[in-house]
Amino acid sequence: MYDYEITVDQCPQCHRPVGPNDETCGSGHPIRRTPRNLASAGIPELNKYIIAYGNLAKEHPESKLANAQMGMCFAKLKQYDKALTFLDKATEDNWEDDGAWFMTAVCLLRGKKPFLAQRQDINKAIDCLNTANQINPSSLNYVLLGFIKEDYFERKYLNVSPSAAEEYAKASEYGNIDDDKSTLASLLGL
Ligand SMILES: [Zn+2]
Repeated sequence: MYDYEITVDQCPQCHRPVGPNDETCGSGHPIRRTPRNLASAGIPELNKYIIAYGNLAKEHPESKLANAQMGMCFAKLKQYDKALTFLDKATEDNWEDDGAWFMTAVCLLRGKKPFLAQRQDINKAIDCLNTANQINPSSLNYVLLGFIKEDYFERKYLNVSPSAAEEYAKASEYGNIDDDKSTLASLLGL
């Protein structure tokens, strides 16, 4: 899923050496951010990942991993324009990082409820989430699809298929909707 061959060789948080396939360091810090482990991350922590992956991006400007990681961290910091610049580089050529696609959808909502978004951004966000589900179906993707359909389409009495209820039903096949709704609220900054 990631271009592991070019990655950081130490933990962004504590600088312990790590191998290319390690998911955490010896202290349990995640080496790469995912939407789920981003939800609870604070600003000082995110800044460490931005430094580590920013250095990787300087050495390897084409690294999709570095661009995806920068984009995801800036998205959590609500710097949406900056985040989208990195995420667009990460997802071009349909790179298979479902987390980067998911966070692109988050950025398109710009910290506001879907009801307030432009239709073209809503359509783009739905496309990104469907792509994320093609790569790796997850309850978090489906919960955001459900939320967008509930808050944008149904509040405006617009038809949409699959419906919000169908997206939430799908979410419950993959995970716990209540947990995901709170994860999602923190990622969306709502
Ligand atoms: Zn560490």
